[in-house]
Amino acid sequence: MISEKMRPLVENNSAIRAMFEEGKKLAALYGRENVYDFSLGNPNVPAPSAVNKAILDIVTEEETTMVHGYMSNAGYEDVRDAIAQSLNRRFGTHFRLENILMTVGAASGMNVILKTILNPGDEVIVFAPYFMEYGSYVRNYDGVLSVVPPDTETFQPDLTEFERRITEKTKAVIINTPNNPTGVIYSSETLEKLSEIMRGKEKEYGKSIVLISDEPYRELAYDGAEVPYVTPFYHNTMVCYSYSKSLSLPGERIGYLVIPDEVDDFQAVAAAAAIANRVLGCVNAPSLMQRVIMRCVDEQVNVDAYNQNRELLYGRLKEYGFTCIKPQGAFYLFMKAPVDDKEFCQFCKEHLVLLVPGSSFACPGYVRIAYCVSYDQILRSLPAFEAIAKAYGL
Ligand code: PLP
Repeated sequence: MISEKMRPLVENNSAIRAMFEEGKKLAALYGRENVYDFSLGNPNVPAPSAVNKAILDIVTEEETTMVHGYMSNAGYEDVRDAIAQSLNRRFGTHFRLENILMTVGAASGMNVILKTILNPGDEVIVFAPYFMEYGSYVRNYDGVLSVVPPDTETFQPDLTEFERRITEKTKAVIINTPNNPTGVIYSSETLEKLSEIMRGKEKEYGKSIVLISDEPYRELAYDGAEVPYVTPFYHNTMVCYSYSKSLSLPGERIGYLVIPDEVDDFQAVAAAAAIANRVLGCVNAPSLMQRVIMRCVDEQVNVDAYNQNRELLYGRLKEYGFTCIKPQGAFYLFMKAPVDDKEFCQFCKEHLVLLVPGSSFACPGYVRIAYCVSYDQILRSLPAFEAIAKAYGL
């Protein structure tokens, strides 16, 4: 019954989700407090109290039929304007509401962009390690993923290899900074070099190449690290933003796209994206959540809580002999596995520590630890990590 296109998706169902389900089973067997589940990027820091207040205020103050009704496919004009103004204040950009399109989180934002721009056979470049769903999103529109291998020293993009991979079929490049799974942030210098390469290739092939900046982790940066805004670097940039992590609202499915005026064929692209939002079945982003964003546009979760987790976990893992780079942002730590990553995850599971193999991010030999968990869980898990390190003679 199921389609040819669905079959491989079912067969390769996300290892992350599989581990999450495994975690629930183990918790039932051994007790929740004895299972150290670091598998899923589900924020443990609560949404700011302003969010709950906004929900209550909206349902009492705003007109019910409006709050729960349809609006333009691109979203409420006042919400889009509030977001544009907020971005302009923070990043010195010049966006208008017409540059903002409300989406059902980053996942649907990525699908809207790709549906808008891809023809069958178009290539989309990603940098390993990368968020695996990108492959599915690109294949949804019969695009072809082209993967730049990882630079495992720094986990910064290998720009020499990147330049080599751009062909006349390249339609888009996806970057994700702060990065899932490595936590690295791309510097202004890196973005400048990457943009220069793309401008050169646009000229060489006489076509537009879109830079898609997937930024659900923009607000999660530590030690005062700057996360440069991408649109000023390159004219054909589209930003995919989400409140899943910045306001801890992953289940509410709310985010937006930025399509700047500088994008080639701006009017046509913006109009097509609004239609893509509709025909993909989203119709529009959740109405109540758009109204919430209107009132909470400059709110943020408590990033310090993630930072404390990062410091504790990174410090202890290094002490036990593990190898990893210190994440600058997001809430993941990408650690070298002492043996094959899948085998290592299996071994860790025996110690009731749940991690995701790097193979799930096209980077075997590493594991991802999602530290968006309670500080207490990290503390309780430390003896298990120490025992695992000892077992491998680290
Ligand atoms: N992009 C990256 C890099 C992610 O890590 C995630 C979620 O974890 C998403 C996109 C999807 O986010 P959303 O919940 O906003 O759809």
